[in-house]
Amino acid sequence: MDQNEIIKVLKEVQHPAKSDRSIVELEMIDNIEIKGDKIIVTLAFSRHRDPLAEYLTGSTRAAIIRNFPGTDVEVKTVVKEEAKPKKKPGLDLGTEEIKNVKHIIGIASGKGGVGKSTVAVNLAVALARLGYKVGLADADVYGPSVPKMTGTEGVIPEAFKENDEKEVIMPVEKYGVKWMSIGYFAQPGQALIWRGPMACNALKQMILQVRWEELDFLLIDMPPGTGDIHISLVHDIPLEGAVIVSTPQDVALADVEKGVNMFRNESINKPIFGLVENMAWFTPEELPENRYYIFGKDGGAKMAAQYGIPLIGQIPIVQSIREGGDSGEPAAMSSRPDGLAFIELAKRLAENF
Ligand code: ADP
Repeated sequence: MDQNEIIKVLKEVQHPAKSDRSIVELEMIDNIEIKGDKIIVTLAFSRHRDPLAEYLTGSTRAAIIRNFPGTDVEVKTVVKEEAKPKKKPGLDLGTEEIKNVKHIIGIASGKGGVGKSTVAVNLAVALARLGYKVGLADADVYGPSVPKMTGTEGVIPEAFKENDEKEVIMPVEKYGVKWMSIGYFAQPGQALIWRGPMACNALKQMILQVRWEELDFLLIDMPPGTGDIHISLVHDIPLEGAVIVSTPQDVALADVEKGVNMFRNESINKPIFGLVENMAWFTPEELPENRYYIFGKDGGAKMAAQYGIPLIGQIPIVQSIREGGDSGEPAAMSSRPDGLAFIELAKRLAENF
């Protein structure tokens, strides 16, 4: 006699409380040991003092003796936590809080440092200035910059439990935009270190647990680059499409390509609404009409043509944009040319909807 023969016999032992399914089908066989003439079967139960434990150990012993007369049978029991149904890794936060959001748009870049967060924050402010209801979720978990760029550092968002179950976080409102950032939950300057899955969950919470209410646009400042975190984000959040931010140099082309391919890849497959060429030219403060193409001219237009995406914005490199980022007063609040460049970008983006 071998294990397979014993399993065949145990298939005859039915569980009376579980539609008479067999203990094999119910995966209750924890172990089978054969020691010479002795058979030791261990049955797994999901709780202590299962009222049917005695019945099932008895039926198990009886079934074996019936099929293998003369054998010495011992039936042991062990308590094991019930196998939980296999869930996808990550949190299931539902989509209740985003059901009144019309368009969710990711702001992405192939690499860091190109001004993605600057563009995201200013685009949000510019859309709000045009009269749209706007929110921005800072999903750049590795370097959240929204608190600093909006002058809301140190603000602690209100959070409460609704119906004693789900935690809801209130966004921070300023400049007519609803902001949320993982940075509100960390000490300023504190390094945020996340393992991959934690980062994914944290940023899903930054989006799905926030009481956005009615919004025309929810912009998501995505982490730089391309990777698993983006794929996971797009799977759990109904992102409508993306805007890609780049600087115009030739060397940035490969990064734009990575970003474009990511959104066009079958696992994501979302439209790209446009390319924003940041740092398109330099304009000194004292000579506002002058344009110096320090990173080359028409780089953005060439990239956009190469990948078949519209160039929807050209943002100059000007001191006031950097200063606005550092002081917490976004350049898009102003009527200077740099502020108007963001308003133009906002109009071009909104034309898509
Ligand atoms: P990313 O999000 O791509 O890492 P940031 O938006 O944080 O980049 O920008 C990096 C730095 O460059 C910031 O100090 C920001 O103020 C500055 N910056 C970005 N865009 C401009 C611009 N158009 N003109 C001047 N400074 C800019």
